[in-house]
Amino acid sequence: MRQRRPHELVDYYVRLILPEPPPPRFDLPSIVGVVTQRIRALREHGEASPPLHLARDMAWLLLSLRRADPARRLFEALPPTPDSEAGLLAAAVELGAPLPRHLPPAIARILASAMQRYDLETDWLRPLVEEGPRLVNLSLTENCTFRCAMCFKWRNQVPPEAHLPHRAWLKLLEVLPLAPGTTINFAGAEPLLYPGLTELVAAATARGMTTAICTNGYLLRGNVLEKLIGAGLHHVALSLDAMDPVIHDRLRGVPGAHARALEAIAALAAAGAPLRLELQPTLMAANLGEIPRLVAFTQEHDHLHGLNLLALIPPHESTPDPAWFRGPYQHLWPQDPGAVEKVLEGVITARAARGKIANPVAQLRTFARYYRDPTTYVRTRPGCPLGQDFLNVNCDGTLVLCPFLEGTEPLGHAGDPGLENLFTSARWQEATAALATCSRNCHLVLNCGFSHEDRVNVG
Ligand code: SF4
Ligand code: SF4
Repeated sequence: MRQRRPHELVDYYVRLILPEPPPPRFDLPSIVGVVTQRIRALREHGEASPPLHLARDMAWLLLSLRRADPARRLFEALPPTPDSEAGLLAAAVELGAPLPRHLPPAIARILASAMQRYDLETDWLRPLVEEGPRLVNLSLTENCTFRCAMCFKWRNQVPPEAHLPHRAWLKLLEVLPLAPGTTINFAGAEPLLYPGLTELVAAATARGMTTAICTNGYLLRGNVLEKLIGAGLHHVALSLDAMDPVIHDRLRGVPGAHARALEAIAALAAAGAPLRLELQPTLMAANLGEIPRLVAFTQEHDHLHGLNLLALIPPHESTPDPAWFRGPYQHLWPQDPGAVEKVLEGVITARAARGKIANPVAQLRTFARYYRDPTTYVRTRPGCPLGQDFLNVNCDGTLVLCPFLEGTEPLGHAGDPGLENLFTSARWQEATAALATCSRNCHLVLNCGFSHEDRVNVG
């Protein structure tokens, strides 16, 4: 079907829903009223969902008017189907260049959740936000209670005085010119070791950010959990590598790690909080056979919203070595790529049947290629796909784009003057340009930053 251009949509939309003759002025409350009535009528006449074009056109109108409250009212009237949310995204795409640059947080969040749920192309959202990253990773602490086999952050044990003071984190969240809906990922090592986490989550949520933590779950209980929920946390990514407690505890280096992760999941379910809880296993030799069990566990439990599989990368804080997967970390690396591919194809099948797998299919197929040969760059051309999209702040307040490339100059420090103009500054442009030739299979290429462009390149 030919896509309508924005001005045609306006005509079409007005003809479709407005009473004849059209009102003398463009009156949003009356438009919303008419549309809502039409949706109710459709539902009363047995329509399971309004036609996609109707949802899309409504969404277009609301997006173009940048009105969050009527958008929310309309979406409440829509039955919760892929059509209603996909319609919003289709509208965003159809709009093309005239997209609003600064969406209200409520709309940005609807878009983000729809993208995740229906595996819609994430790059579509890019024009909807201001200049600057879409994901800011705050490494609040470099300390960790675990002793994982695939990550050596726990060896750091950074003293308290080397960490950015709490008030400086709060100030940073205040001054960075982030668009509403930007994800603030409170990371670590283990972010729950950071005493002021709740206050930071509340500050970011109050600014309209989407807040997330990446945790091993050991400390996610009782008072801590209640306070985080109260602060409005949106997303928890919990590392669970196996359903078998022996395997999980061995990989994580702490007896009882598995039991505590399951307790955290149960506590979150009991709390009934409106946050997204996702399991995040890393695919390794020891847990290859556990991946189907983790998928089944996720799909069987309503309080688990998804599973996001991670590819194994060289352990954090290990000595750089291009042959790392053959050398000291050979025991972590699955030796049979055919077996890996079979497991990944099983995940793809389960995804099609029952959903709740956060990885796009193209990413899972990229993983299969990567496990066959981790030295071949998974993208078809060099260049960091995240230059404009990702900002990392180290625990001492250093701002960096790429946390892996040795010798790259930091962008600055959390205490620097002028951060309110960072994303339009020359130093931001220079730093992002400097990443244009990188061709590493880093975790930002493979895992959390897997991009739409890579989806296109993978068969
Ligand atoms: S993977 Fe997570 S839990 Fe394990 S040592 Fe690293 S930071 Fe800690
Ligand atoms: S290692 Fe390369 S691809 Fe990965 S984040 Fe750094 S610059 Fe980007």
